Amino acid sequence: MRGNVWHDTAKEPPITAQAFHGDMKTTVAVVGGGFAGLSAALHLAEAGVDCCLLEAAAFGEGASGRNNGQVIPGLKLGPADLRKRYGDAGETVVETAAGAADLVFDLIEKHAINCEPDRRGWVRAAHSPIAMPAIEKQARQWQDYGAPVDVLDQGQIAELLGSDRYVGGMIDRRAGRLHPLSYCHGLARAAQSKGARLYQNSPVLSLSKNGSDWHIKTAQGTLTAEKVILATGAYSDHLVPGWSKGFMTVHAMQIASAPLSSNILKTVLPGASAMSDTRKLAHAIRLDAEGRIIISGRGPLSGRIDDSVVQQLVRTIGRLFPTVDGQDWTHVWAGRIGITMDELPRLSSPQPGLYGIVGFNGRGVAMATAFGKAAAQHCMDQPAGFPIVDAPKVPFHTLRKPILAAAIAYYRTRDALGLASR
Ligand SMILES: Cc1cc2nc3c(=O)[nH]c(=O)nc-3n(C[C@H](O)[C@H](O)[C@H](O)COP(=O)(O)OP(=O)(O)OC[C@H]3O[C@@H](n4cnc5c(N)ncnc54)[C@H](O)[C@@H]3O)c2cc1C
Repeated sequence: MRGNVWHDTAKEPPITAQAFHGDMKTTVAVVGGGFAGLSAALHLAEAGVDCCLLEAAAFGEGASGRNNGQVIPGLKLGPADLRKRYGDAGETVVETAAGAADLVFDLIEKHAINCEPDRRGWVRAAHSPIAMPAIEKQARQWQDYGAPVDVLDQGQIAELLGSDRYVGGMIDRRAGRLHPLSYCHGLARAAQSKGARLYQNSPVLSLSKNGSDWHIKTAQGTLTAEKVILATGAYSDHLVPGWSKGFMTVHAMQIASAPLSSNILKTVLPGASAMSDTRKLAHAIRLDAEGRIIISGRGPLSGRIDDSVVQQLVRTIGRLFPTVDGQDWTHVWAGRIGITMDELPRLSSPQPGLYGIVGFNGRGVAMATAFGKAAAQHCMDQPAGFPIVDAPKVPFHTLRKPILAAAIAYYRTRDALGLASR
């Protein structure tokens, strides 16, 4: 099997960007070239703020170029729960979360990004009857907000998905899907065209403060900036002491089939752009523009491609969509997901002038775009779409590997019992 399918199918080409070298100054330095960093650079550049973005490898090399491409608005909590959680900032958080898919699809249109957008909605499918109340609660909260979200019974969900394996669910019609690597390339092109200076193959080696200036060192130079946005996500290293202790990293694996025949395609997800289920160790499934079916699931903690996980994903698809059973599987790849204890992402400021974004818990296509914009707004001292909150805290972080292994075993049992995640 080949690696990441998005590399073989991206229609939006990567931009040309050099490695950073020499001594330069900028107003805002952005570290990390995924959705969050590129969105921050684009919004800064559009507002006329001088900014430089440094990416360790290529744009989209992290989770942003490896995911399932589901554009899902909202966080894991519904609006009423978000208002309780964020107090005075609650309404702003709800609006940012609610508008995150609009933000993505508007950027695609505005900058003519060739990333195969498809906006027929995202289905969240209940894998058992006892998972339904959690779905109904979330759908009700979004309906009260006025969002186009509907609860589905067993017949309705079977019609939308082409699978009779789910007992019900909900559809969020604000949501959709895209080609994630093409979207990354398009954001990079848009940011560069608005004047952002983008560099790739430029890992930042150290970050230090001298007076009010930040010094950002790479192997070949130093960038001096007034403010820094750390958008290194689950690929963060040790640039900011303690930063990586605020979240845990798990791995997700994905497989893609060869393009399905037109007859089979009529039977798979005929009425929605994408779906995921209510398991804590959830499966996410979509088609691409050429009719490949792509499924993601939890990978091994090592992050290595594991044949038993591949076989498990193949069996899952065969159970859900018997017409797809026996198809050729051509691509397999993995990526990292940053998870926080309360399943909420953070925009925090570990030091004055330094903003960090992390913890999308597997829901970062729309939300990382929105958080990148919010970080840019903070740098410009504008009202921001998301407040600065304390950096996340993971207790006993040094023991995270055995804790994660135990948690995964626990969640497997919960999933088997039919309980829903948020
Ligand atoms: C398999 C998989 C499936 C997923 N499916 C979905 C989905 O369908 N829908 C959804 O909403 N979300 C999904 N997600 C989550 C989503 O992909 C992420 O939340 C999102 O891409 C995070 O974006 P980011 O910009 O914060 O981080 P990233 O895209 O990970 O970018 C961080 C970047 O920082 C760079 N970097 C790290 N250290 C340095 C350094 N020292 N110097 C310079 N650069 C550095 C890295 O190279 C990387 O490019 C999925 C994730 C995975 C792994």
